[in-house]
Amino acid sequence: MSVETVCEICAQRKAQNTCDQCGRVVCEHHYNAADGRCEKCAGPRTL
Ligand SMILES: [Zn+2]
Ligand SMILES: [Zn+2]
Repeated sequence: MSVETVCEICAQRKAQNTCDQCGRVVCEHHYNAADGRCEKCAGPRTL
């Protein structure tokens, strides 16, 4: 039995990261790796 956690922001992609601030599990797309936080906490990443 496998449980796949989905991103708590988009609810579509598979979540692979946990926000250091709020503890949300988020997908790569909504995780700011430089900050270690989700997009909600760290803001959209600037490319
Ligand atoms: Zn996402
Ligand atoms: Zn967060």
